Amino acid sequence: MSFAMFGIGVSGGIAIGPARLLSHTSLEVAHYAVPAEQLDREVERFDGAVEEVRGELETLRESVPAAAPAEVDAFLQLHLMILNDATLSEAPRTLILQQGCNAEWALKQQMDTLIRQFEAIEDMYLRERQADVVQVVERVLKALLGTTTTVSGGNRDTPGILVAHDLSPADMMLFKQQSFVAFITDVGGATSHTAIMARSLNIPSVVALHHGWSLVRENEILIVDGTQGVVLVNPDRQVLTEYRLRQEQWDLERQKLKRLRSTRATTLDGVDIELHANIELPADVDQVRKSGATGIGLFRSEFLFMNRPDLPDEEEQFHAYRAVAEAMRGQPVTIRSLDIGNDKPIEQGPRVTNNPALGLRAVRYCLSEPRLFNGQLRAILRASHYGNVKLLIPMLSNRAELDQTLAMLEQARAQLRAEGIPFDEEMPVGGMIEVPAAALALESLLERLDFLSIGTNDLIQYTLAIDRTDDSVAHLYDPLHPAVLFLVSHVIRTASKHHVPVSVCGEMAGEPQLTRLLLGFGLRCFSMHPNHLPVVKQVVLKTTLSETESTARRILGAHTAERISALLAKLNS
Ligand code: PEP
Ligand code: MG
Repeated sequence: MSFAMFGIGVSGGIAIGPARLLSHTSLEVAHYAVPAEQLDREVERFDGAVEEVRGELETLRESVPAAAPAEVDAFLQLHLMILNDATLSEAPRTLILQQGCNAEWALKQQMDTLIRQFEAIEDMYLRERQADVVQVVERVLKALLGTTTTVSGGNRDTPGILVAHDLSPADMMLFKQQSFVAFITDVGGATSHTAIMARSLNIPSVVALHHGWSLVRENEILIVDGTQGVVLVNPDRQVLTEYRLRQEQWDLERQKLKRLRSTRATTLDGVDIELHANIELPADVDQVRKSGATGIGLFRSEFLFMNRPDLPDEEEQFHAYRAVAEAMRGQPVTIRSLDIGNDKPIEQGPRVTNNPALGLRAVRYCLSEPRLFNGQLRAILRASHYGNVKLLIPMLSNRAELDQTLAMLEQARAQLRAEGIPFDEEMPVGGMIEVPAAALALESLLERLDFLSIGTNDLIQYTLAIDRTDDSVAHLYDPLHPAVLFLVSHVIRTASKHHVPVSVCGEMAGEPQLTRLLLGFGLRCFSMHPNHLPVVKQVVLKTTLSETESTARRILGAHTAERISALLAKLNS
């Protein structure tokens, strides 16, 4: 059966390949003995997990749109049948009682038995149903265990398409090392960190597909169109041929753009524009150099802290920052101090609260952990001796936070001086403007900052009250909302008036449709994912600055989305 799914394209291009399902458990479960007097409770735990999954599947069935193919419902029904069958819902109970073992182990053993039986079946259709059994067991294990993630088996020689319900930025880090040609998830918004990471993998990606993980099966052929946000499952030959052609055209375009690498980003009226890159890890520098970026506008240092049980100490951080500073050979390297919390949790980080985006995040967290912050500030200062390093403070919302941070920086400087460790006494310190309060009360921060960087991802989230990771409100996440445009242009204008350099480092900076608008607002420095740099550069090269300003002003005065997009189309024509 072939069908299409629609989501939000977060990284462009077309990929074709077999599905590789990301399971929520490793299926390698612990085996331990349960004391006789606790066996009844273990059985209850197992029953509870089965019940939870039953509820999940029933809810899924209810939420299938009426227009969906009949097979979708049949598929969910099949999973319910498997779950309700005594071989899965009863047999493990007996095993728990007979063997005195834990529920996960009993379930896993029963699954292995079932799989052996399936393997002996001649009928191909029935034999393939073992994948369904595994999916159902995984759901139950997930209910028993929580959520760790691994990719299912399959033939690893063929690069596949990663299909997941959800991926954390930490998961994405792990997948950076494996070869996938695309990834798709059920949840997530276009500027979630997971989506940003996907862009850094430079592969087509679609998020917010809602039921992809339940509907797609291991090894099914998928076409992922990351530009349109469409996924085609089991396409027929004609569709495959058509998409292969489109894929070739896309690749050809990208190749052509690469030739712009060493061309300076100068407008038609001769103004140089700085195009910088955003990175997550020192290893990304390679990509930055290939993109032709003239500096690093955002080094998201928190990624050094992920996927590990401990925290990197000052020494480890120093070596990472120094490596980037040296690799960039005198070009600016803007290191952002730790921005964890919200959708970028780390194992040792702040406690998860109801509203992490409004909680102890970024500079707030750092100020509450002075030892950790001191180590990072010292590491960044030390690295400044080896290149053109700048410090960027995320999530500032008031003057007191800035003053405290600068006091901590001064303390770190004094320590290094006393220890005779060299650092750049003039290292510039910038603030991220990503909380509306900071944008509106900008003048209270400006006098103590050497530069600004507008974090539009968060600025949009906080201005519009839209959780950037929540796909159910993703349609309301709008960079062209008049309030967002007002704040962005206000920050650029105010900073320029005070001669404080300003850049944009959120996803808006890498969106070619918005390049002229930002230029028209007066922006002269953009920082984006290196993959976006060539297309943005192409726009810059074809732009006459003086022609952008009046339309940008009219866009600021427009009241409806229709008027704004009409004016934007005019600006981009
Ligand atoms: C932003 O908020 O725009 C930004 C660049 O920071 P991050 O995406 O890491 O929150
Ligand atoms: Mg941010």
